[in-house]
Amino acid sequence: MDQVTVKAPAKLNLALDITGKTQNGYHLMKMVMQAIDLYDTIRIRKNDTGKISLSCGLESVPCDERNIAYAAAEAFFQHCGIEERGVEIRLDKVIPQQAGMAGGSADGAGTLTALNELYQTGLSLPELCGIGKTVGADLPFCLTGGTAVVEGIGEIITPIADFPDCDFVVAKPKGGISTQRAFSEFDRAEIGPCLDITAMVKAIEDRDAAGACAQMYNALARVCPLKEVEAIQNIMTSCGAKGALMTGSGSAVFGVFTDRGKAYACERRLSQRYEECFLCKPISHGPVIE
Ligand code: ATP
Repeated sequence: MDQVTVKAPAKLNLALDITGKTQNGYHLMKMVMQAIDLYDTIRIRKNDTGKISLSCGLESVPCDERNIAYAAAEAFFQHCGIEERGVEIRLDKVIPQQAGMAGGSADGAGTLTALNELYQTGLSLPELCGIGKTVGADLPFCLTGGTAVVEGIGEIITPIADFPDCDFVVAKPKGGISTQRAFSEFDRAEIGPCLDITAMVKAIEDRDAAGACAQMYNALARVCPLKEVEAIQNIMTSCGAKGALMTGSGSAVFGVFTDRGKAYACERRLSQRYEECFLCKPISHGPVIE
């Protein structure tokens, strides 16, 4: 085998709260994360260059060691003690950038999954997560996928019941703020934890989409109110969404629909105004080898 292709899913934060800080300044999180059927495709081919090379075709995405997929490949080779590092990584990006949908981390997770297959290293999911967390805080969830409570700085993953069947409409406005700025706004605001995660998990286990939506909360959206985000939330709610929220540090917004027709209508309406609109479903897995 000299080539593997993997589809790596995006995530949404159904809930995001910040519960404290570690001594070295990392924020401690309490989140409910959901993988969705919006995928980047990662194709990795072995070659005899002895080096990692990466192509993507988007100017905004670096193709060197700053790329999370590249960094994940380096971490994989290091962990496994593999000297023959000649691989060509091709990313086909669909997940919007600067969106809070973990596009870069998904590529990192997909790369680890692909290399594990390509080199027949047989690493378990916990082992892959162990490598992933050295590359980025969102990688363990991106490797796990499905629906999960995510804690610590992102490394403590507790899978929960699948989110009840629904449609997500996702819209990404052009503007946004950096993840770093969102966290410093949070620090300045000095607000404590607000999320009732137990209620959200129970609603999900009871297959009660509306009940889960009633608990949706994003501490970063609260401290960084963005006009465009609020405008999208209002459109989603007026179209019949059971809940609408910014994901992560934004600026993508998602609405949860239990009526397919309303979801379609909402996506059509938003796509007249926003270039990046998607109609998605929750999925119960992480990266998939094709
Ligand atoms: P998150 O939910 O993790 O905060 P995000 O949407 O804010 O995700 P991304 O768009 O995934 O963040 O990536 C942010 C930046 O990271 C990009 O602007 C880009 O410079 C860099 N980056 C590194 N690797 C990748 C990658 N594989 N795909 C996209 N961006 C990448």
